[in-house]
Amino acid sequence: MTAISMLINGASVQATGGATFERRNPLDGTVATTAPAATVADAVAAADAAAKAFPAWSALGPNARRALLLKAAHALESKVDAFAAAMAAETGASGMWAGFNVHLAAGLLQEAAALTTQIAGEVIPSDVPGSLAMGVRQAAGVVLGIAPWNAPIILGVRAIATPLACGNTVILKGSELCPATHGLIIEALQEAGLPAGVVNFVTNAPADAGAVVEAIVAHPAVRRINFTGSTKVGRIIAQTCAKYLKPVVLELGGKAPLLVLDDADIDAAVAGTVFGAFANSGQICMSTERIIVDNAVADAFVGKLGERAKALPLGDPRKGPVVLGSVVDMATVHRCNALIDDALAKGAKLVCGGKSDSTLMQATVLDHVTAEMDIYREESFGPVKPVVRVNGVEEAIACANDNEFGLSSAVFSRDVAKAWNVAARIESGICHVNGPTVHDEGQMPFGGVKSSGYGRFGGMAGVREFTELRWITVQTTPRHYPF
Ligand code: NAD
Repeated sequence: MTAISMLINGASVQATGGATFERRNPLDGTVATTAPAATVADAVAAADAAAKAFPAWSALGPNARRALLLKAAHALESKVDAFAAAMAAETGASGMWAGFNVHLAAGLLQEAAALTTQIAGEVIPSDVPGSLAMGVRQAAGVVLGIAPWNAPIILGVRAIATPLACGNTVILKGSELCPATHGLIIEALQEAGLPAGVVNFVTNAPADAGAVVEAIVAHPAVRRINFTGSTKVGRIIAQTCAKYLKPVVLELGGKAPLLVLDDADIDAAVAGTVFGAFANSGQICMSTERIIVDNAVADAFVGKLGERAKALPLGDPRKGPVVLGSVVDMATVHRCNALIDDALAKGAKLVCGGKSDSTLMQATVLDHVTAEMDIYREESFGPVKPVVRVNGVEEAIACANDNEFGLSSAVFSRDVAKAWNVAARIESGICHVNGPTVHDEGQMPFGGVKSSGYGRFGGMAGVREFTELRWITVQTTPRHYPF
């Protein structure tokens, strides 16, 4: 069992009053972590600390910020074993997923480090004689980042890396399901030597999330919020932010379609589907959640997909390497079992896998799924994946867009021009031609449309979210006034 602390103003602290909460291992129920249950006063103290640190941090030269972020990337990489142990204990994730998380999260810090010298403005032609007019990007203030458990290192780092690069100070609100994993990110940033108050870390008991988040959003120094999590909670956060007029980036749920057109390279499409559907047991916002296959190739595709899915190694990640570890909780198992029951009752065919009575869930594929079945529409966020058969490109596009979400998507076809035109018509923030729906890189504009949220992380898109664009003029000659 690991006992962790919060970080406020450079000090490791417990909650005022000493309250804690537990995170238990999803597979055997043993206590994985004990973490402080922050009070509203602790949340305000974190925002005060970040506000106090803001003037010096935002005034620091870009290369000084860059050096610290690069050090943080190295410190993060050196903790790969600790991260793997924490993720296996708290969320049941495989070592492979933990390693990938550390690798990509270090890349996000390196990208943020590179951005520090790119936060530029522009000179804008003015109609006023002698006026030098500029659009200037400046740090916004304190940024609150709220990250979930499913890709905990990537999403925890993403919530704060670009904001820090832009000269903001930050508060990371850790997930109740992986407080120690999120705490290790904070340790890495501390080891890099970031000044006190630049990064703050708050953990809360599940029942206190609303009050803790609102206290921080309401704080006058807090100028930006970013939230990665479910669409349900995203709507609550959006309303809280609207109440205090605070801009927010929302990275929410998904139901990513992967289209297999009649001229697709079937082996390539199967490989991309297996990876996108079953990495981290399907618990990724970009997970392939709808496999839309042209009838002309459906039998060949589904046959190969079933063989590959059946062979994926499953087991307790604490005992050795697996592809499918434990899912995060029994609620996931119950949700996925209900989706399987509903689909089979309405005529779907089970290709492989099936229902589970523990958090070790097999890779499951359901064929002949139709719009009447719940799994056609709802995010499974588990290793249960529907195949929908369609006739032709128009039906494939209509099916892809017949959903409230719009985060990632993919199209497989040997005719790249055709696939490009299909990609252009899919309602999603992200689309990959002949690649999996699961793909992220620090420099790419990442985000969704429709119920998947709004705003973008990644590269210059992230800089635009976490800076204030100001109009500043300098009158260089005597100004003419009408009176
Ligand atoms: P969740 O929405 O249940 O929880 C996320 C956070 O919300 C937690 O930190 C929690 O403390 C906070 N929260 C809960 N109730 C709150 C309230 N009333 N007020 C304020 N905060 C509150 O999400 P989850 O189950 O942890 O994550 C899974 C979901 O996240 C899936 O839907 C997945 O698709 C989505 N997700 C999206 C992305 C993306 O980039 N778009 C990435 C990963 C996960």
